[in-house]
Amino acid sequence: MLKKFMSVSFGFIYLFSFSQSSEKLHQRAIVADTHNDILSTIVQKGYDLGNDLKDKTHTDLSRLKKGGVDIQIFSIFCDERYGKGTAFNYALREMDTLQQVVLRNPDKIMLVQNPAQLKSAIRAGKIAGLTGVEGGHMIEDRMDYLDSFYKRGARYMTLTWNNSTSWASSAADESKGQLPFGSKGLTAFGKQVVQHMNELGMMVDVSHVGEQTFRDVITTTSKPVIASHSSVYGLCAHPRNLKDDQILAIGKNGGVIFINFYSGFIDSNYMRSKAVFLQFHKQETDSLIQLKWPMYEVEDWLSKKYAAETELFRPKLEQLIDHFDYIIKLIGVDHVGLGSDFDGIESAPQGLDGVENFPRITQALLQRGYNKKDINKILGENFLRVFKSVSSSNN
Ligand SMILES: [Zn+2]
Repeated sequence: MLKKFMSVSFGFIYLFSFSQSSEKLHQRAIVADTHNDILSTIVQKGYDLGNDLKDKTHTDLSRLKKGGVDIQIFSIFCDERYGKGTAFNYALREMDTLQQVVLRNPDKIMLVQNPAQLKSAIRAGKIAGLTGVEGGHMIEDRMDYLDSFYKRGARYMTLTWNNSTSWASSAADESKGQLPFGSKGLTAFGKQVVQHMNELGMMVDVSHVGEQTFRDVITTTSKPVIASHSSVYGLCAHPRNLKDDQILAIGKNGGVIFINFYSGFIDSNYMRSKAVFLQFHKQETDSLIQLKWPMYEVEDWLSKKYAAETELFRPKLEQLIDHFDYIIKLIGVDHVGLGSDFDGIESAPQGLDGVENFPRITQALLQRGYNKKDINKILGENFLRVFKSVSSSNN
């Protein structure tokens, strides 16, 4: 009996010190997340990121701090309802909003545009905030708008969102067999956009793009590319996820895949359960669609309203770790990072309720057998490498 008691308490002490050392490792590491959609939410709802937004959003400034996040790339986003004459201005409005957040919270967050500024923000114990433009439609087919985004501090552009542009086809369109401009991939202008981003020192983001666009990007770019928020097709067959040949190509290119936490990209059972859930609430779904809500907002609203139901089909955290494992086995530990998509997704795996839970990923990686050196790469060093290498000629 004594022996049993001793081994139980030893187990408890072991687990306690394990989680303590994992927390220490996480807080000491540089943690970068390359995709967070909170700006769209605060522009639409008028929330203040300096306030406690728990139970309303995945993100606020104090929870970013609690989650040990040192570098946050905020997504600048509007959907396909914005186009010529409106999309660029909407993007600037989101950038202005982030600037206001920074002006109101100068002790917590700093906007940075290059590796040197990033370093000084981290040294000062502040969150280094950057922006990435999610959707090439926001340049409205104008190269000078791309220049403006760069000058305002945008350091990546996702060439398409779910909608294709007139110069790049999206994963959503290509997977449905659609040819948005009579063909697919990058047009001649699309290739110029990629080359100009290379010259500027802006990371080319291949999340959301179609497979032909991806291939054209890889043969056009002279610098490493990123997938700012994508997961693995081999584990969850969704058109937004990356297939093995794409993962191998990013490895060869020296780029980085930042894993998206969305339950629907992690576990293929999730989409099936979600379809049943939406069918169950069909009347409400239909009435919101009639009010012209986009489907992603309907799903988000219903998931929050019926949280107890959607809780039942969240994947396990270990399943997210499987996506890291998969990429690391295929192309090594230098090409993977965190691209949460928090506040752009209605569901994340169990235990990941918001940005405050990033330390749980470190704990799960340790439990999976990764060492400190590998974990530091995954959490932030891989991002720093690709950011430095893309901006090198400019800073
Ligand atoms: Zn996205």
